[in-house]
Amino acid sequence: MMERLQKYMARCGVASRRKCEEYIQNGLVTVNGITITELGTKVDENDEVIYNGRKIVPCEEKVYIAINKPTGVITSVTDDRGRKTVIDIIDVKERIFPIGRLDYDTSGLLLLTNDGDVYNNIIHPRVEINKVYEAVVKGCFTPDEIDLFENGVDIGGYITAKSKIEVIETFKNKSKVRIIIHEGKNRQVRKMCKVFNHDVISLKRVSIGKIKLDTKVGEWRYLTDKEVKYLY
Ligand code: URA
Repeated sequence: MMERLQKYMARCGVASRRKCEEYIQNGLVTVNGITITELGTKVDENDEVIYNGRKIVPCEEKVYIAINKPTGVITSVTDDRGRKTVIDIIDVKERIFPIGRLDYDTSGLLLLTNDGDVYNNIIHPRVEINKVYEAVVKGCFTPDEIDLFENGVDIGGYITAKSKIEVIETFKNKSKVRIIIHEGKNRQVRKMCKVFNHDVISLKRVSIGKIKLDTKVGEWRYLTDKEVKYLY
């Protein structure tokens, strides 16, 4: 994300924002080899910012967070439509970002961090971390549908990998299922259920690998050291 040069410098621990403005105006800062004296200049972490002959980089402590995301909140850092984001409900000073995503209308476990390494470890398609969802769906899956579901479903040009589905509870016109997938295609669970005409009524993610959902809706916690080690 782009931010004002003086803010970036302050975040890198150079000095206060005011002081950094002075450094910029006095021609002491270069961005990608060009001396910048404009305070409006924006940079991000891909730019090479040099102050005092030294490349500066952000020096934040790494943080790892698990939130129980409510529905009605989007999983991005900012929203151009002004909707509430998960970042708005997590009060930390570090610039965290979500690892993967949950739909606006999905609740449950979402991990966030400012550690790009862990992000890549989890997001990369070759990493097959199981994600467990509980869904309330219209109707009830038959044993044949369960077989087809588990062997791979065509969700519109993409055949899903093998997965697991288990009926936990049945009601009059709906049922509750537990679904385990390791992929993360857009609206994957909803699309997989829809193929069998079992539209998802509500969806919640309850775990990501060994990390379990254990806070109330809208509440978050830091991961334990053991959980962080597991993500590496
Ligand atoms: N699958 C979906 O359909 N939605 C989510 O938010 C997560 C998985």
